[in-house]
Amino acid sequence: MLYELTEEEAMLRDMVRDFAAKELEPKAEHYDQTETFPHEHFEKMGELGLMGMLIPEEYGGSDMGLFAEVLAVEELAYSCASTAITMAVHNSLVTGPIVRCGNEEQKQEFLPGLASGERLGAYCLTEPNTGSDAASLEMTAVKKGDKYVLNGTKSWISTAGVSGVMLLFARTDKDAAKKKEGISAFIVTPDLPGLTIGKEEKKLGLRASNTVQIILEDCEVPADRLLGEENTGFKIALNALSAGRIGVAAQALGIHRACLDESVRYSQERHQFDQPIANFQAIKVKIADMAMELEAARWLVWQAAKLRDAGQPCIKEASMAKLFAAEAANRAAREAVQIHGGYGYMKEYKVERLFRDAKVLEIYEGTSEIQRLVISREVLA
Ligand SMILES: Cc1cc2nc3c(=O)[nH]c(=O)nc-3n(C[C@H](O)[C@H](O)[C@H](O)COP(=O)(O)OP(=O)(O)OC[C@H]3O[C@@H](n4cnc5c(N)ncnc54)[C@H](O)[C@@H]3O)c2cc1C
Repeated sequence: MLYELTEEEAMLRDMVRDFAAKELEPKAEHYDQTETFPHEHFEKMGELGLMGMLIPEEYGGSDMGLFAEVLAVEELAYSCASTAITMAVHNSLVTGPIVRCGNEEQKQEFLPGLASGERLGAYCLTEPNTGSDAASLEMTAVKKGDKYVLNGTKSWISTAGVSGVMLLFARTDKDAAKKKEGISAFIVTPDLPGLTIGKEEKKLGLRASNTVQIILEDCEVPADRLLGEENTGFKIALNALSAGRIGVAAQALGIHRACLDESVRYSQERHQFDQPIANFQAIKVKIADMAMELEAARWLVWQAAKLRDAGQPCIKEASMAKLFAAEAANRAAREAVQIHGGYGYMKEYKVERLFRDAKVLEIYEGTSEIQRLVISREVLA
C-alpha cells in the first residue's frame, strides 16, 4: 500500500462504516422505492462531525478536511448514495465556499447551523438553458439600494427543497467582457419572498435525494448576502466544483465497492451446472476487473483529495478522479447486474438500485465529456 491511513483516518472510516451499516443500509431500499428523503440522519451526522468536515472548529465544524470527507462519502455511498450526495454537496459545494470567501458575519450566521446538520446546503448553478455551459447562466441580480433583486430559474438543484442555505449564482454584469466575469455568488435562504421551490423531480436513481427547481421572481436578497466580491462568483463556483468533483468520485467508490461485494457474495452462493458461478472464468474476469478498477479509482480520488487539502493545484486530478471513478462504477454496476442474471433486474436485489444510482455520476458536477475537455485543456496547456 502506498498510503496507509493514519489511526485517526481509519477510526473515522470505521465509525462511518458502522453508522452506514446500522442506520442507512436497512432503510436505503425503502427510501429509494418510496422516494423518501432521509431527513432523520443529518442531525446525527452533524453530531458525528460529518456535516462540518470543512468548517473550522470555532464555527462548530470538525475541520477534518477533504480527504476525511472522501473516506466518509465512500462509506455512506456504499449503503445509500442519496445520503452520500446530500452530505457531499453540503460540505464541498456549500460550506467550503462560505469558509473560503465568506466574511466574519456570514460565517457566524451560517456555518454553525450547517455544521450541526440542522440546516442543509444546496448549490444552485444549473438553469433550464445552461448546464455544461454554466458561464452563460441567465439568472439576473440587479442591485437596488441595500438589496439585489434576483430573477430567473435554477434546475435540478439537489437538496434545495429541504435546504436551509443555498449558494446561488446570478448575473450581476451583463456587459462584462467575458460572460464568466459578470457572475456573483449569493447566500440565499428559502424564506425570502419571491423564492418558490418547484416540483420535486422524479428520477432514475438517487430517488431518495431531493432534486427541485427554484424560481426567483423579484426576489430581494440583502446586499450583505453577496459572497465574496461582486462579479467573482464564477471563480467561486469553479473552485467549489473542483472539490465537489472529488466528492462525487468518492460517491462512485462507495457504489463500486458495493457492486463488487454483492457480486462476490452472489457468485459464490449461486449454483449453476452443479457449481458456484464464481468457478466460471467469465465471472472471475468480471470480478477481477471490478476489483482492479476500484483500487485504481481510489488512488486517483485519494491523490486529488490530498492535493486539495495541501492547497496544491488539482483541477486536472479532480477531473481525472471524477471521470475514471464514475465510469468505473458504471462498468462495475453493469457487470454486477449481469452476474446476478435475472435476479439483478429485480428490485429485491441491491444491485438494481446501484445500477440506477451509478448513472448520474457521469452527468452531474460536469459530464464525462466535460471532464475530458478539462483534462485535455490542462494536458495541452
Ligand atoms: C440528479 C441530478 C442532480 C443535480 N444536482 C445539481 C445541483 O445540486 N446543482 C446544480 O447546479 N446542478 C445540478 N445538476 C445539474 C447537472 O450538473 C447538469 O445536468 C450537468 O452539468 C449537465 O448539464 P445538462 O444536463 O444541461 O447537459 P448539457 O450541458 O445540455 O449537455 C448535454 C450533452 O452534451 C454534452 N456536451 C455539452 N457541451 C459539450 C462540449 N463542449 N463538448 C462535448 N460535449 C458536450 C454533455 O456532455 C452531454 O452529454 C444535477 C443534475 C442531476 C441529474
